[in-house]
Amino acid sequence: MDQIKVRNPVTGELAGTVNCASPSELSSTAARARQAQRKWSKLSFRARREVIAGFHDRILDQAARVLDTIQLETGKTRRDAFAEVVSVAGTARYYLSRGESILAPSAKRGAVPLVTQSVLEHRPYGIAGLITPWNYPFLLTMGDALPALLAGNAVVIKPSELTPLSAVLGQQLLVDSGLDPDLLGIVNGTGEVGNELIRHVDYIGFTGGSVTGRKVAAAAAERLIPYSLELGGKNPMIVLKGAPLKEAARGLLSGSFSNAGQTCISVERVYVEASIFEEFSRIVAEATKQLKLGWSSSWDLDVGSLIHSAHAAKVLGHIEEAVQFGAGVLVGGSSRPDLGPAFVEPTVLTRVNHRASISTQETFGPVLSMYPVESAHEAIVMANDSNYGLNASVWAGSTDEALNVARQLEAGSVGIHSTLMIYNAFDVPMGGMKISGIGRRHGEHGILRYTQEQSIVTSFSTAGGYDSMLGKIRSQKIADGILKFVKLWRKIPGIR
Ligand code: NDP
Repeated sequence: MDQIKVRNPVTGELAGTVNCASPSELSSTAARARQAQRKWSKLSFRARREVIAGFHDRILDQAARVLDTIQLETGKTRRDAFAEVVSVAGTARYYLSRGESILAPSAKRGAVPLVTQSVLEHRPYGIAGLITPWNYPFLLTMGDALPALLAGNAVVIKPSELTPLSAVLGQQLLVDSGLDPDLLGIVNGTGEVGNELIRHVDYIGFTGGSVTGRKVAAAAAERLIPYSLELGGKNPMIVLKGAPLKEAARGLLSGSFSNAGQTCISVERVYVEASIFEEFSRIVAEATKQLKLGWSSSWDLDVGSLIHSAHAAKVLGHIEEAVQFGAGVLVGGSSRPDLGPAFVEPTVLTRVNHRASISTQETFGPVLSMYPVESAHEAIVMANDSNYGLNASVWAGSTDEALNVARQLEAGSVGIHSTLMIYNAFDVPMGGMKISGIGRRHGEHGILRYTQEQSIVTSFSTAGGYDSMLGKIRSQKIADGILKFVKLWRKIPGIR
C-alpha cells in the first residue's frame, strides 16, 4: 500500500505518515459512510448536536495538541494555527445554536388558501465529499464537515496530500466525542483520489485553486450532483483620504502577511488615494520591517514558512517579474534560507505595473502591491478589474463613505475597516463572485447547502381533493365565477 510521508516544511523532518486510499478502499469507505448515515440522519438534531458540542469543547481543551499538529505539517506560526482552532470552534458554536431552527420545517402557502397546506423540509444529501487544500488543513476540513454532519450527512474528506494529519486528528477528536467512525471517512492521496471521490458522493464541497475547481465542476456535472467551489482570490484593499492610516496599515499587515499570505482572502493589491500614498506607504513599510519571521511554538513570531520551496520560488518569481516591470521594493523581496527552505520575507512593492503577473494572478504569499489612484472611483474600477471576486477591504474617513464604495465592488465579501474578519462572521455567507467560486459557506446557506429541499403539500381529501377541482368546471358560469375569484385573489391581503 502506498504511503504519504508528511514532512515538516521547515525542518524536513518526518511529521507523520498516512496510507493512500486505493479505489476499492475508497468504495468501502463510502459504503460504510452510507450505511452509518442512514442511522445518523434518523437521530434528532439534538442528539447530533451533543456529539458536535463535545467536539467543540474537546478541540479547545486539547488546543495545544491541535496547534502542534497544524504547525508541524504547514510550517505556519503558532498564531496562524490558533486562528484555525478559533474558527472551527466558531463554526461549531454558530451551527450548534442556529442549526436546528435553520433546518426546521417551515409552513408555506398552499395552492388554495385555507383548504391546502405546503411545508418545506430539508433532507440531508447522504454523503458530502470534501476536497481540501493545504493552507488551513484543520479549518477547511473540520469547519466544513461540522454543518454537513449536523444536517444529517456522512462526510468523506480528501485532504491535501501535503497536510493530511490535521484532518486525521480532527477525525479522532470527533470519534472521541462520540461520532460513529464510519460517519467521517478520510481518503488520502493525490488529486486522482479527489477525482475518484466525486464518483461516490452525493454532494461535493471543493476548496482550492480555480484551475482544479473547473475540473471538479466538470466531474460533478457528469454525475449531476450539486457542488460548491471555494476558490482563489486577488483581493483588493482601498484606502481613501481621511482613513486612519496607522490603523489601516495594521489591518493591512494582518490581511497580507497572516499565514504568510497563503490565505484565499489575503490582501494582495492595495489602491491608495494619491494624496496619502507616500505617507501610507511609509507607515506600511516601517511596520512591515518590524515583523518577526521564523517557525517555533513561540507566540511572538509573525510570519512563518510557506508550504514548500517550489511555492516560495513561484512567489519570488512574481516579485522578480514585477521588479523587471519597474516596481520598487520598499521592504523584503528575498528568500530567507537561513530560516528554512521556504521562507519569503514579507514584501511591500510599490508602483507595480498592471501588466505584471503579480497584478493579476493569485500570488498566495507574503507580498502586497501598492498602487496610487486619483479617486475613489478609480480605486473601484481598478479593484474590479480582475477575474477574481472573493474578498475586498475598504478604509475611509467615514463608515458611510466606505459603505458606498463597498456596494460597488465585485466581491463576495467586503470588510469595512477590516481585512480578514469575514471568515469569523459566521452569520453571513462567505464565498466568491467571478472565478473565485460558486456557492457559499457559513450563514444559513452554509448548512442548507448540505440538504435538498423537499416540499410536502397537503390537500383536502373530500371529493377527490384539489386535483379533481378542474374536472368540476362544467359550465361557462362556473368558469366565469372562478375567473372572478382569481382576479380578486391578488387583492386580498393575507392570501394573495
Ligand atoms: P489545489 O486546487 O491544487 O488542490 C486542492 C485540493 O484538490 C487538493 O486536495 C488536491 O489534491 C485536490 N485535487 C487536485 N486535482 C484534483 C482533481 N482533478 N480532482 C479532484 N481533486 C483534485 O489547491 P491548493 O491545495 O494548491 O490550495 C491553494 C488554493 O486554494 C489557492 O488558490 C487558494 O486561494 C484556494 N483556497 C480558497 C479558499 C476559499 O475559501 N475560497 C480557502 C483556502 C484556499 P493534492 O493537492 O493533494 O494533489
